[in-house]
Amino acid sequence: MSLKKARKIINILFFTVMAVAFSGLILGDRFLPLILITVVALLFTMIYISATYFKCPHCNSGFTPRYFPADATHCPYCGGKLE
Ligand SMILES: [Zn+2]
Repeated sequence: MSLKKARKIINILFFTVMAVAFSGLILGDRFLPLILITVVALLFTMIYISATYFKCPHCNSGFTPRYFPADATHCPYCGGKLE
C-alpha cells in the first residue's frame, strides 16, 4: 500500500469514527454498546494502518497522519522523496 493510499484510508476512517460517534448522540443509549465497539474497532484499524503503512520508504520513520502535511514530498527525517 502506498503512502497516499494509506493516508486516504486513515482520513476516511477518521471521518467514519466521527460520523458513528455523532450518530450515537442522535440514536441514544440503546445503541451505545454497538457504537462503542464500532468506534474502538475503527480506531484500532487506524492505528494499525498508520503503524504499518504510514512511514518513510527510505528510513522507515513513522509519520503522524493527522500532523503530517498533505503536500509533503520529502521525508522530514531523512529527506528521501515520498511517492
Ligand atoms: Zn525517511
